[in-house]
Amino acid sequence: MQTITMKFGGTSVGSPEAITNVANIVQAEVERGNRVVVVVSAMSKVTDALHESAKMAAARNKWGYVSHADKIRFRHDEAINLLMRPGDARESVLNEVAALVEELVEVCQAVSVLREATPRITDHIVSFGERLSSRVIAAVLAERGIVAQAFDASDLIVTDNRFGSANPLWNETQDAIDKILHPALEGGITPVVTGYIGATDSGEFTTLGRGGSDFSAAIFAATTDSDELIIWTDVDGVMTTDPRLDSRAKVLRYVSYQEVGELAYYGAKVLHPKTVQPIVDKGIPLRVRNTFNPDFPGTLIGAESEPSSTIIKAVTSVRRVSLLTVSGRGMIGVPGIAGRTFLAAANAGASIMMISQSSSEQSFCFVVMEDDAQPVKRSIERELDDEIANRNVEKVEVVKDVAIVTAVGAAMRGTPGVAGRVFTVTGENEINVLAIAQGSSECSISFVVAEDDLERAVVAVHDLALDGIRIAEGSV
Ligand code: ASP
Ligand code: MG
Repeated sequence: MQTITMKFGGTSVGSPEAITNVANIVQAEVERGNRVVVVVSAMSKVTDALHESAKMAAARNKWGYVSHADKIRFRHDEAINLLMRPGDARESVLNEVAALVEELVEVCQAVSVLREATPRITDHIVSFGERLSSRVIAAVLAERGIVAQAFDASDLIVTDNRFGSANPLWNETQDAIDKILHPALEGGITPVVTGYIGATDSGEFTTLGRGGSDFSAAIFAATTDSDELIIWTDVDGVMTTDPRLDSRAKVLRYVSYQEVGELAYYGAKVLHPKTVQPIVDKGIPLRVRNTFNPDFPGTLIGAESEPSSTIIKAVTSVRRVSLLTVSGRGMIGVPGIAGRTFLAAANAGASIMMISQSSSEQSFCFVVMEDDAQPVKRSIERELDDEIANRNVEKVEVVKDVAIVTAVGAAMRGTPGVAGRVFTVTGENEINVLAIAQGSSECSISFVVAEDDLERAVVAVHDLALDGIRIAEGSV
């Protein structure tokens, strides 16, 4: 008997038809004799609507949050009514949904009295999405004779109090899982657990960040010692690039933890960037599969880096970023300026996505999300005001409308000439490269281009990835 953690994303639980697929998948696994831990997202768009509701409540827009709540209730009721036979079980889950939605409206009312949606109360409001969907899925599974039960991760994942993007406290979380989830699994129950949410040790709701259900699922896979984690989503797997940028994109059959980490960090939307973190140490294999194409094997993600000539495996990009450059001849050999600059960026609440310095030390540059650029610039100017006054630092410059393109592939390590090929094709395509960085893991090369050049850059580098695949498949 194996233990398998399966996570279903928002689209996969977003309609009665989709939920039927989910139930088929879970039922088949249970009938195979395996234990299944089901982790669910909120129904598609519900988390967005809840975030909006919090804002509407703060703006005293009662009509707005009440009508959102009505729509949310309708979608859950509709799924229940379509997928369950009339009777006590159906009434009971309909009542649970009604009670949760009522509670949601009450919390919004409290916000509208205070006229402020703090991160803490916003997390409370958005927690309703997963709490609702988990109850519906559990009831639908129970209807099929599976001994399923809904669990709130606020009782299982203990986090710090960084509301909006909380971090799990591993020991406390393991203790809670041992106390609550293990006995349930031992007792033959199929738990249906909320993704995305957790709680502080004093019991306040937290969330793990947008798209965080993948991370939740990995936490459950690790803490239940699962044999496998399957992220069920609405695409066939991890792709060589975004098919909207290049229709030749292909599904990758195998990707290493490290590669998928870089891909997710640099903009590939399939997995939350933190997903692999909890499962790496235990070496739990991760599969990305499509609920709407369940016969397709998807992408397997594991520890091995694939020995093949697919040197560049995939290409991703991040839009809406800005390039900041700090320059000045007086910086040469002066220690600490980079350190203080990055600290100033951190103090402005920005995270730095990529760094590069020219060896002359006359300037260095880094990339932050566009919205962070001006606050970061101001924070750096404040921090370096002496250096700016005595002209050791000449300017802090922001270049907008740029994008990061990243080529990922573990086989780059120790393979000479990969960067050469990448920048040969960008050159051939007359794409101006504004900055370059290679991760020290040598698993990725990132570069910055004008947003207008993004698509051509992705297609050009993706060509190299497709070449690699052709070589690996022996078709050239
Ligand atoms: N429902 C949450 C979101 O939309 C978490 C998730 O689906 O992963 O961000
Ligand atoms: Mg997601």
